[in-house]
This record gives sequence, C-alpha cells and structure tokens, in this order.
Amino acid sequence: MGKIIYLDYHSSTPVDKRVAKAMEPFFFERFGNPASVHTMGEDATQAVEKAREQVASIIKAEPEQIYFTGSATEANNIVLRGRLAKHRESHGNCAMVIVTTNTEHPSIYKTLEYMSNRSFCNPQIRIDQNGELNLDDLDKLLGNHFLENKALVSIIAANNEIGTIHDLKAIGEICKKNYVLFHTDATQAIGKVDIDVNEMNIFALTMSAHKIYGPKGIGALYVKDPDLIEPLIHGGYQNTFSSGTQNVPGIVGLGKACEILQKEDHEENKRIAGLRDLLWQQLQAGLPDVFINGTMKKRLPNNLNVTIEGIEAEILVRGMDDVIISSGSACKSGSLDPSHVITALGTSHSDCAFRFGLGRWTTKDDIIYAANRIIEVVNGVRGDNNDEEED
Ligand code: PMP
Repeated sequence: MGKIIYLDYHSSTPVDKRVAKAMEPFFFERFGNPASVHTMGEDATQAVEKAREQVASIIKAEPEQIYFTGSATEANNIVLRGRLAKHRESHGNCAMVIVTTNTEHPSIYKTLEYMSNRSFCNPQIRIDQNGELNLDDLDKLLGNHFLENKALVSIIAANNEIGTIHDLKAIGEICKKNYVLFHTDATQAIGKVDIDVNEMNIFALTMSAHKIYGPKGIGALYVKDPDLIEPLIHGGYQNTFSSGTQNVPGIVGLGKACEILQKEDHEENKRIAGLRDLLWQQLQAGLPDVFINGTMKKRLPNNLNVTIEGIEAEILVRGMDDVIISSGSACKSGSLDPSHVITALGTSHSDCAFRFGLGRWTTKDDIIYAANRIIEVVNGVRGDNNDEEED
C-alpha cells in the first residue's frame, strides 16, 4: 500500500499498541472464563474488575455502575428498549415519552423507528443552523406535558457528523428539575469532553472502544439504577445486561484505552484542534465556495465538516485512495440519502458535505498533504464541469 492519510477517526480508530499489549495475554495464557470459580476464572474476573474501574473513572462513575456490551449500538438498544419495557411494567399502556434531538446516531433513531408500533412517542428537539440546541425548548416540552417519571431524554453528547458538543450539565439540570431520566450517547465525546455523570445528572451513558483506540466489538453502558431497565438478553452466566460470557480481551482493551485517554487527552486535544484549524485554513485558502457545517465554538477538537460547493461527496471520497475521509457519517456511506444531520442544519448542499476526523497519529505533514490533495482533486472536478458547460 502507498501513502495513506487517514482522516476518518470518527468512523473507527486504530488500536493503540499499548492497548493491544494489555489485551494480548488474555487471548493466550490468561484465557480463563470470568464465570469460572477456579484460579484462571478468578484471574479473568480481576482483569474485568480492573477495566471496570478504568472505565468508571473516565466518567466519574462507580465501577459497579458499568456494564460491558458488544458495542455502543447494543448499549443504546438496551437503554431505549429496556427502559420502555420497564415503564410498561409500572405504567401499563400509559404511553412513555422518549425525547431526542433530530440529529441522533442511527443506533438511536433507527431503534426508535423499529419500536414505533409500541406505546411511546418521540418528540424531537431540533437543532438550529449551527447545530446547537435551544434548551428552553426541552424545558418547555418536559414541563408543559407534566412528564414526571414518564419520560426518558436521550441526547447525543457530541454529534458524530458535525462534532457539535451539547451542554450535558444544562440538559441534566433540566431533566432533574422535571423528574425525567437522562441518557446520553457519548460515543464520540469520551476523551474529548469532560464528563461527570453525577454532576451532570446522567442516568445512563453509552460508549464504544473502537472510537478511542481500543478494539472493535466492545462497548460499555453506565447505568445509575439498573432496576429501571429491563434486560433484553437472558440465560447467560454473567450478571450484566449483555448476559453471555464476557469478552475479556476486549474489556481489558477498553479499560486500557480509557486509562490512556485520562492521562493524555488534555494536551492531545489541544494539538489535534490546532491541526483541525490548520486544515480548515488551508481549505479556505485553496478553494472558493467552501463552507463549514456546524458551529466552530462548541465542537469536538478532531472534527471538521465542510461543504464544497458543486462537489458531490461520493466523488471526492471515492476519488482519492491516499486520503481517507467520509461523506457525512460512515454509517450512511453507500446510501445516497443526504445526511439527516446536514439536512437538519437547513443547508441546501447536503450532498456535498465532507467529514474529517483527526486523531492520535495525525501529523502536520498529513494535514498539509491532505489539504493539497483535496484542493487538487476539487479543482480537477470543477475544471471538468466547466469544460462540459462550455462544450
Ligand atoms: N453512537 C455514535 C455517536 C457513534 O458515532 C457510533 C459509531 N458510528 C455509534 C453510536 C455506534 O457505535 P458501535 O460501532 O460501537 O456500535
């Protein structure tokens, strides 16, 4: 393979070698099942418990409030479907209200679509043209409909396409005031946004290892009170929402990834934000008609999402094999539907939005190279378009 500049860290990250090293013994000599009572089982249990502490620490939770899952998607399903099931136990057919934004990840909004024949409704708080939420709307909605103990608010902590960071503390306060549970999908925010589940009144929180330099196939769910969520899977040996035998190497990897983030993320986020700003400057300097999607102020340090007028996202994404970027979100690639997040911003250029995600191994040289390459390809496409118009 020739030179590749990877700028799609929102989609997935490479595993940090320190994480892989921590995981390795649990594939080979320390492969015991944590459900076993013998010494090897005990060894695996200790490793899982250490990881639980590492994960809890990054969101200031208690270790026993952390449940391992196979992914953030699974964790989101557990919260939405498990909470609705529990609500029905105590409220019968009295409808539950699940409040979201109109820009949630598909693992939230598609799960709600799937659940739509059950007894609940899903009012959505709409983002403005900058990607931000008017929290008065949330307060009014919860207060006006007397949703006390009948609602769950599920709001993404940081958007996976435009990187907008929502004010978790303020949302938590509004939920507390209105006696409503607050879940946040923090998959993109972990390590980039300081989270304190108690201070922010968060009832449940979702995360995933492969977005933070850990392995794929492992996620975690923080739940403050597990009695308020009905488990979806039964019959396994483990006392978790996922039930089956635990993925010990994955869990150890997630724990180590969290430990590294806690030590290094502060300086690293500043470095990455500097490179992200450089990329934006370079694109603006080299291309006319390039626009930013979403606010620059409350944004993940590694995110840039731009519209390049007249350039269809798929053409640029597929047209460069040395610079890896994404059109909208990876979960949408392959689909020609415009991104629901970019559409929600009200821009008329939803087919031309590109997402850049920077990460731990992005360098200044990478950014300069990528910017030049994009400018070259865009100018090439625009030149061809002009020639066709003149013909
Ligand atoms: N939520 C958000 C905000 C995400 O960005 C993603 C990954 N695209 C997910 C959930 C799903 O994560 P996983 O791949 O672990 O299911």
